[in-house]
Amino acid sequence: MRAAVLALAAILAGAAPIAAAHDGAAIARERRITFPKTPDGRSVLAVDLHTHSVFSDGAVWPDVRVEEAKRDGLFAMAVSEHLEYQPHISDIPHPDRNRSYQLASAAAAVTPDSQGVAARPLIVIPGSEITKLVMPPGHINAVFITDANAIRNGEVTTQLQVANAQGAFTFWNHPYWTSQTPNGLATLTPLHAQLIKDKLLHGIEVANGADMSDTAFQIALDNNLAILGTSDVHGLIDWEYDLAGGGHRTATLVLTTAETSDGVKAALKAGNTVAIYNDNLAGKPQNVEAVVRGSLKIDVGTPLPKTTVVPVSVINDSPVDYILENVGPEGFYDEGHVFTVKAGSTFALLLTNVPDPSKLSLTFKVLNTYIAPRQHLQLTLRDGVSN
Ligand SMILES: [Zn+2]
Ligand SMILES: [Zn+2]
Repeated sequence: MRAAVLALAAILAGAAPIAAAHDGAAIARERRITFPKTPDGRSVLAVDLHTHSVFSDGAVWPDVRVEEAKRDGLFAMAVSEHLEYQPHISDIPHPDRNRSYQLASAAAAVTPDSQGVAARPLIVIPGSEITKLVMPPGHINAVFITDANAIRNGEVTTQLQVANAQGAFTFWNHPYWTSQTPNGLATLTPLHAQLIKDKLLHGIEVANGADMSDTAFQIALDNNLAILGTSDVHGLIDWEYDLAGGGHRTATLVLTTAETSDGVKAALKAGNTVAIYNDNLAGKPQNVEAVVRGSLKIDVGTPLPKTTVVPVSVINDSPVDYILENVGPEGFYDEGHVFTVKAGSTFALLLTNVPDPSKLSLTFKVLNTYIAPRQHLQLTLRDGVSN
């Protein structure tokens, strides 16, 4: 019904009702990567800073990237074409390497009289992928650049110096990719260490498409790099993720005080990010905790008559399923100690022997979160009303 209303609104606004034409309303809602604010009031915005179109080796026009990103509820995206790898250049000549960004930006623009969700356009961030054949340096994305042509040529340090002079945020792409790293392990090379030391390299992909890397995660923590997840999509998001089944593209959550392009850039540079990958959240401990505390609550009820057995609702306002392990002393009457709270839903529990419900707290390991390789976030929750 909502889709039908949106479609009608789009027709009335003179725009093609693309979003409603294919997905049903339920799927359209399921696929959006939207999180509540953190307890300290920051917005949690999903961005994908690594995608491709036909302007490098992708299979789609930039407009399709924009439409997918809108459907996924992204706040911002980049079409980061390979600078040095241009297999379609004879079919699609484009001497201006900003062309893909320009087309995506135009596609993302909304009419001035748009209402509601459409009133806030998807932000398209200008970016490119520095694409070297060997590791090091491998591939490095530069986003928030002002002119891709100026960073097109030269060796990587020079390219990154120019990108940084343009104000770029830069990150090491898929540092464990088997095409360049046959053992599948990310290793910090002297060149990467130097780029980080010189503040030319600011982040690293811990998750890319269908892959996630503990070694990249450890490099991020050891070197205080921003932690990113990206789709690196070349085909279609709909082909690569089980969207109807509750899946989402690999992406980055940015924790920001300002819902603007500058706010996203500042949060990236400050490392206030969490990678979202296959319903897992990976990031620095304080960032993962902020996202989970913003989206996971408990509500303590009154004891069942003549007992000290207390009902508790565990409420998940996030788009990912939370897998919780009860690691506190409290016992459950009707569940095992590991259970899943589905995205956007409430899980009902009964707790045994709670003499004073107003003092109840529950301590969980959140098994689909990572604050370091193989290490899950643990947190204690209290009912916000009674405490
Ligand atoms: Zn590519
Ligand atoms: Zn790449």
